[in-house]
Amino acid sequence: LTTDAEVVKRETESISVKSLRNNAEKFEFQAEVSRLMDIIINSLYSNKDIFLRELISNASDALDKIRFLSLTDKSVLGEGDESKLDIHIKLDKEKKILTIRDTGIGMTKEDLIKNLGTIAKSGTSAFLEQMQKGGDLNLIGQFGVGFYSVYLVADYVEVVSKHNDDKQYIWESKADGNFAVIEDTENEPLGRGTEIRIHLKEEASEYAQEDKLRELVKKYSEFINFPIYLWSSKE
Ligand code: ADP
Ligand code: MG
Repeated sequence: LTTDAEVVKRETESISVKSLRNNAEKFEFQAEVSRLMDIIINSLYSNKDIFLRELISNASDALDKIRFLSLTDKSVLGEGDESKLDIHIKLDKEKKILTIRDTGIGMTKEDLIKNLGTIAKSGTSAFLEQMQKGGDLNLIGQFGVGFYSVYLVADYVEVVSKHNDDKQYIWESKADGNFAVIEDTENEPLGRGTEIRIHLKEEASEYAQEDKLRELVKKYSEFINFPIYLWSSKE
């Protein structure tokens, strides 16, 4: 016998663990992006650390963009926590979820669909070519596809984003050729910015360790002009 509450709980779990939210709009990745992700998620590349450099660099770019806009219109910064320009990295050791949040410019629904999946960048094919020639995955950022390096350590990624011109949306993908986008009615409002939720792969459990993260954040924050805060849940 199961209670309603148990059924609801199980359904909620199955949404987050087994499949993408079934009421979300589904999209196919542009073919080359899909191939690139396939290579990354199956890669035996040992220097997986670089994913954090790429995500911190994207957060920093997004913060630069909103700061630039604020030079001519201060109101774009808002009044809540989002008025501070910073990066927060949080670890949930139990769930093995690593979260990187910025108060940068954020992405509209259209930005999420285009920038994280459907627009072909010239760098995508160039990078694929390099990889076939045995090139170094470490150079991924130079080809303009650094975001996808998150799949070196993740088997499922959620991107929650809020841009001043749109509502809050969730983008999600398991790097299986598809992604989904849905208006966010379940999370706390971000105010403005982006939160990347990395569901760590079994093999990437080293990134669920505080010491490892602290070392990496120290290394990659050297040339970042915004404060980075590292928070970890208690064991
Ligand atoms: P690049 O940073 O070289 O453009 P990426 O693959 O790292 O390539 O990112 C792709 C795009 O996704 C970025 O150009 C940006 O438009 C968007 N993006 C990624 N992360 C963020 C973020 N944290 N905030 C806002 N936009 C982002
Ligand atoms: Mg980038």
